[in-house]
Amino acid sequence: MRYHESIIELVGDTPLVKLNKVTEGIQATVLAKVEYFNPGGSVKDRIAMRMIEAAEESGALRPGGTIVEPTSGNTGIGLAIVAQQKGYRCIFVCPDKVSTDKINTLRAYGAEVVVCPTAVAPEHPDSYYNVSDRLVRETPGAWKPDQYSNPENPASHYHSTGPELWKQTEGRITHFVAGVGTGGTISGTGRYLKDASEGRVTVVGADPEGSVYSGGTGRPYLVEGVGEDFWPEAYDRTVADEIVAVSDKDSFQMTRRLAKEEGLLVGGSCGMAVVAALEVARRLGPDDVVVVLLPDGGRGYLSKIFNDEWMADYGFLSSPTEEATVGDVLARKDAVEH
Ligand code: PMP
Repeated sequence: MRYHESIIELVGDTPLVKLNKVTEGIQATVLAKVEYFNPGGSVKDRIAMRMIEAAEESGALRPGGTIVEPTSGNTGIGLAIVAQQKGYRCIFVCPDKVSTDKINTLRAYGAEVVVCPTAVAPEHPDSYYNVSDRLVRETPGAWKPDQYSNPENPASHYHSTGPELWKQTEGRITHFVAGVGTGGTISGTGRYLKDASEGRVTVVGADPEGSVYSGGTGRPYLVEGVGEDFWPEAYDRTVADEIVAVSDKDSFQMTRRLAKEEGLLVGGSCGMAVVAALEVARRLGPDDVVVVLLPDGGRGYLSKIFNDEWMADYGFLSSPTEEATVGDVLARKDAVEH
């Protein structure tokens, strides 16, 4: 019989898929590393596995222990799945602006979620930061992974994402492009590819306009999961050769094109990374192989990026899709058949 002992055995080994339509006019080969194939639907399953396994080895996390992390996104899902399979309790702390869909997803995996008010100062006892610190202090056997400073975050990519790409491209990758959030993906994967290629691979970070990585101060932007207003320890400043800043509008329009033209329903940070990858690829020739990492799927963004009204409200949509009548649809069919 062919089966896996548990869903967590399926973390990593994600496929590379060539981009064929959005790359029109580009000579280089552009390949997407599609991370939504991970069981939790994102690249963050990789760091969840390695951070938990390293904590087990060091004794920071013991049988029956509790994982406490201030996160509401992909890292939470990864941690919740791995924790559940390994028998740990999981508590997440989220600000109250987080959507109920995200909170319900974490709860669906059996995690406990504590929601904190956004409208209080960081030093207030109910703040996101203070609540998670208190939960760690007062819960017996609690351990906080802290993806922003945990060296196992970049290490997971050094030991999985990087070697996978080197093998999948048979060492022919010339450029690696990834969005930067905690910096774990670009630092770990980029470092591995530089080591394996003896410095030949160029590493490019994609960053929302306004974030620190591309020289900003953290001005608000709408792309989720990337950009920061501080420099996390997980980010190694010596790895990226270049950082490309991308606007929300360009990120979201590309995200929609990836669904419509490449069959890839992915998140906004994926569109952002692809915009940067194409900017790089346009300068290259037919022997170059650009790999762009797509961190997550698009289901979590249906009411935003894939919603015409939301896009139009922000001025991101030039011509909203009209609601069609049966007559309109049939007329269009005639047009296609001539
Ligand atoms: N995109 C999304 C949707 C994410 O959740 C993250 C993780 N914060 C990233 C990109 C960036 O990855 P990293 O934290 O490894 O820099």
